[in-house]
Amino acid sequence: SALLALDEPERSSKWLRCLFEEDKDEAITQIALWQAYQARFAHAVDKMGRPLLPAAEFIKNVSTTFAEKAAAQVQAGPVQKFIIKGIRIRDAPVDLTGRPYQKCQWTTPTPDGTGTRPCGGFFMEPAEMFEHIFSHHLRVPKIASPSPSPPSASPNGSEGGLETAAVAEPKTDVGKFTNDEGTYRCLWPGCTKFRNPTLIRPAQLAAHIKIHLPPPSPLDASLKHPSWVSPAETQSFSFLSTAVDERGDAAGIPLTAVLVLRNLARNLRRLGREEEEREDERERGGGRKVARYFGGVENELWFVFAHNKSLASYLGDLLIAIAE
Ligand SMILES: [Zn+2]
Ligand SMILES: [Zn+2]
Repeated sequence: SALLALDEPERSSKWLRCLFEEDKDEAITQIALWQAYQARFAHAVDKMGRPLLPAAEFIKNVSTTFAEKAAAQVQAGPVQKFIIKGIRIRDAPVDLTGRPYQKCQWTTPTPDGTGTRPCGGFFMEPAEMFEHIFSHHLRVPKIASPSPSPPSASPNGSEGGLETAAVAEPKTDVGKFTNDEGTYRCLWPGCTKFRNPTLIRPAQLAAHIKIHLPPPSPLDASLKHPSWVSPAETQSFSFLSTAVDERGDAAGIPLTAVLVLRNLARNLRRLGREEEEREDERERGGGRKVARYFGGVENELWFVFAHNKSLASYLGDLLIAIAE
């Protein structure tokens, strides 16, 4: 791309502008930024010999690029983090003129095969996204070589017939999608038209797919670019934590209560095992006793385990004592 032809530090500045934007509340780790920069340009260095900036200069250049609104900082905490405060990754990258790319939303399986997620591929023109959906997601076959002409020699072996056949197959068809009926389904989110596999001709399917494609980005992005900033997508969790001591460890009555319950569970199990041995009963007597006393509140205990950060590790011990 055009980026590769630039010299540093301009190359990294332009690249940063394409992928990141200012947001005073957000931050990104320096290591993630540096790795992304290396991944993007390392191979170009081999080919075109424009060396990467050294890490320190690259990080300095981040601040310069974002007109000092991004600042390298050290984030204190259990593990120190080196961050750039004041920028975040764009919802969609933009090209060198600031035109945003459009995202492919096609539903695809996650790598582990247990769920689905949007494809997430980025395209500048609707036509590019269409080509991507047709070939990558729907796997509509393409015309590989000039379609086999009708048997080249006509029964009479007339040269004229051969000529006509060759002309009737314009070269431009090569690489185009075939229009042979096939079974396809549309996995654009929210689409109900072809949710189930449907026998359809690609030309008809194309007309349908085109209604999903986002409109082309405005050419003059600087004029149309919204002056407001949409908030970063975040996921929030609420916790119901109880008292902690000065080291952040659980404390007070909640802690005592969990420890008492844990000891009860362990002792019930031991008691049950002893009875079991006396009565020479081979069933799981210990487990039965624990289940009798704790079975009714197990869901509540899991709830606390999930929501109470300070007690979570102690509740883990309790739940293990119950489950063993
Ligand atoms: Zn896609
Ligand atoms: Zn659809």
